Amino acid sequence: MAEQEQRKADGLGAAWRSGPRNERMAAHKIECNACPVLCQISDGRVGACDRYANQDGLLVRVDPVLMLRRRQMDGSVGDLPSDPSPGEAGLVPFLQPATQGEAPAVESSDTGAGIFVTAVGASTTYPDYKPAPFIVSSVADGVDMVTVVTEGIFSYCSLKVKIDTDRWLGPEQANVRCDGEVVGHVSTAEYGSQMLSLGGVHHITGGSKKEGRVTVTMMQRLGNKQAVEFTIDGGAQVRVQAGQPPVVDGVPEQRMRVGCGSATVGIFAQQFTGLVDEVVVVDDHITGVLTEHQAGHCLGLRPSGLKLRGRKSTPGRYFQVANPGTGWGGTDLVDPLAIVEGWDAALAWPGQRLLMVSTTGEHAAWFVLDAALAPQPALMPAAIQAIVDRIGENCEPSLASVLFVAGAGGSLRAGVTENPVQLTRAIQQGRVTVTCGGAPVYVWPGGGITLMVDVLRMPDHSFGTVPTPAIVAPIEFSLRLADYQALGGHMAYVRPLAQVLASGSWHADGAPTARRFVAPTAGNPWPLYALPADALPGRA
Ligand code: SF4
Repeated sequence: MAEQEQRKADGLGAAWRSGPRNERMAAHKIECNACPVLCQISDGRVGACDRYANQDGLLVRVDPVLMLRRRQMDGSVGDLPSDPSPGEAGLVPFLQPATQGEAPAVESSDTGAGIFVTAVGASTTYPDYKPAPFIVSSVADGVDMVTVVTEGIFSYCSLKVKIDTDRWLGPEQANVRCDGEVVGHVSTAEYGSQMLSLGGVHHITGGSKKEGRVTVTMMQRLGNKQAVEFTIDGGAQVRVQAGQPPVVDGVPEQRMRVGCGSATVGIFAQQFTGLVDEVVVVDDHITGVLTEHQAGHCLGLRPSGLKLRGRKSTPGRYFQVANPGTGWGGTDLVDPLAIVEGWDAALAWPGQRLLMVSTTGEHAAWFVLDAALAPQPALMPAAIQAIVDRIGENCEPSLASVLFVAGAGGSLRAGVTENPVQLTRAIQQGRVTVTCGGAPVYVWPGGGITLMVDVLRMPDHSFGTVPTPAIVAPIEFSLRLADYQALGGHMAYVRPLAQVLASGSWHADGAPTARRFVAPTAGNPWPLYALPADALPGRA
């Protein structure tokens, strides 16, 4: 303990760096201990994760620390300092204490310039007993705040992917493969979307070496908003990229359904009245039949006598009319009449007009019953085509969404406080704002710190990997300075924002770094103001 205190008293930086574990390591190499891989890096080379390098015998971070600079009242971000350019060996030159003229002026201990230090490029606490690399104090609305900034090395993490499509991607629980390796599974479908659960500790650590490597590489790419191809056992091929239309079996998806078949009948029932005698909205889940549906009943529509295949749930609502697929309404139907069993001759009549349409309006067909009550294809009237078009108009653009889920309840808490459960409790009590690269996160109820964040709200290139394998992702904890002290925070390591900006950097592991200023993602709350009002009395 005395040695540790002495190290603290000596200051930061190299104080936490021990000698190499391998005493036979060549003299021109240095050991990085920012993750368990413990790379031995030659001069001018980078480590296995491409994040650290040996520059003239000094361990440096290759990528800069990302800092958010808040927008001005007029929406601009003012004059941002220019990004440093890569030097020799692709290394970003790190800032020296005497060369800080590019930084915006910041009054002591204040957020006057609206700057937030994110954990993107911030380095880690590994091997965990170290304080977080940046513990930054600032003032928000007159309240003394502190933000603890660190990259997390996550073995327990996954991606929840929402793919807006009616098309059937594969059976629930089916394996999802990337480069031939199982990296996840098909999860429960949601309204208008198919869901994939990807990554997770079992694929990262529980399979072969290749499975773990492919899994984290896939997660890094998706998290960094890049496209990844998947094949689903017994299902489709799908290309996923956050914020972009998914591509199913080579076809870009365009429309997210307006609703299920029953909902579509209900929404458009009144518009159909008088123009058509029967409407069937084909849907893999709930196919709707207008005149039998409660909507048709309420409008006093004449029963058509149409008999549909599948399992009747309630009047005008049918399950399992066909097999799932990539055809009409997420079924395998190419010919919609395949689900029609016939007509009740006591109710139907020659000349009856029938519209069959899918839940997105992408498929539609018009029929008229002949004298034998057999449906004959006919030219769709313009008024009906207009309603079909309106179904399409009410579909939202089909997109893929990627949410990163991670457990931060483990050892990285030691970089925040000497009593980690206090951090967990403070978060559960709403006294700490957790952000990832400045993006707001949802913290799951219950034990631990299980967070979920939309990767599109995070800065570009927020994610990395290390070959353990594990995912590297940014995480910041913002709370009142008094609360930080109360939960056993590393108070000796708190540095005012102005000092952080003035001194360049002071990683706890001794690695100097550059910094880069970017504007926050549009729509994100300013990280320091996301606390409940009673945690910021100045705002109450
Ligand atoms: S893989 Fe780990 S030990 Fe190697 S350079 Fe990256 S963080 Fe350092």
